[in-house]
Amino acid sequence: MGSAALLQDGFGRPITYLRLSVTDRCNFRCVYCMPEKMQFLPRIKTLRKEELVQIGAAFVALGVSKVRLTGGEPLVDPNLPWVVKELADLPGLEQLALTTNGDRLGLYANELKAAGLDRINISLDSLNPKRFAELTRTGSLSRVLDGIGAAQQVGFERIKLNVVVLRGRNDDEVLDLVRFARRESLDISFIEEMPLGSISEHDRKLSFVSSDEIRAIVSQEFPLTPTTETTGGPARYHRMDDSPISVGFISPHSNNFCSSCNRVRVTAEGRLLLCLGNENSVDLRRVVRESPNDLETLKVKIREAILLKPERHYFDLNEAPQIVRFMNMTGG
Ligand code: SAM
Ligand code: SF4
Repeated sequence: MGSAALLQDGFGRPITYLRLSVTDRCNFRCVYCMPEKMQFLPRIKTLRKEELVQIGAAFVALGVSKVRLTGGEPLVDPNLPWVVKELADLPGLEQLALTTNGDRLGLYANELKAAGLDRINISLDSLNPKRFAELTRTGSLSRVLDGIGAAQQVGFERIKLNVVVLRGRNDDEVLDLVRFARRESLDISFIEEMPLGSISEHDRKLSFVSSDEIRAIVSQEFPLTPTTETTGGPARYHRMDDSPISVGFISPHSNNFCSSCNRVRVTAEGRLLLCLGNENSVDLRRVVRESPNDLETLKVKIREAILLKPERHYFDLNEAPQIVRFMNMTGG
């Protein structure tokens, strides 16, 4: 593809990575992600699956080479394998990935693999069943472990675990989770909690554990060597001498990755979010509803919108959350 066709923002950053939210709904209620009584969007406000696929196709036609399906929980939508199949065949798409809580992977891993899904990230914050139930409020550890097993069994490679670390809740499990990842040959990334949406279950200022602190815990038992591997985001990856897995630390509070940011998000409502830490967005649902099946109009609107991507973001745990949307609305 010629460079003139590539999607570039106003600061010359190529946009090659789209995180596409399939739904805002979820069968878990993780304490850091949403309140227990979460109000989900009425269905009329969310993208229909055909609209979601059109938007994905427009981005890929504009040079986006990696798409991650996320949510909410993508697997609460029984149409997910259809979405995967439609997107997987798009010319130019190099990687189609999924982020899931793993609860329904036991049911769907096989179908997703057959539909053309390349990679899976699975959230796993605890290996203790009681704690897992507390952190997710509705989740069952054994179902998620079965889901991980199913994804391994059908042949997904480089499966990655995502762990959000909260002080006093699961920070004492960091080493256990790394041991588990090593035993199962799974990559693992630790994520700093982000102030997205207002929650009352805990005080994010008190629960926050920095990537530096988590890295120090891991290094007590497993010496880590930083790599130059990057996905153009807030993750920094490390290797160990005696295991092939990668250990990542995701520090969204730092903004020193903004200069190479290559990604945008589309929410379940079809809002194009240009930056995780800013509210500015463009309504793509209106575009697909006003001009159905018109890929060219959608491409023009996306090109214009990308120019509004801000240069950088700021998160401040000492202030009330400036970002009122929850992570499940954002497309994590
Ligand atoms: N439901 C799927 C899952 O849990 O993997 C996909 C969506 S979830 C919003 C995507 C990721 O965001 C998960 O790894 C989750 O742990 C993380 N997450 C949710 N809320 C967060 C927050 N406030 N700060 C940091 N990470 C968060
Ligand atoms: Fe659901 Fe994922 Fe949010 Fe947990 S982190 S409540 S699984 S969307």
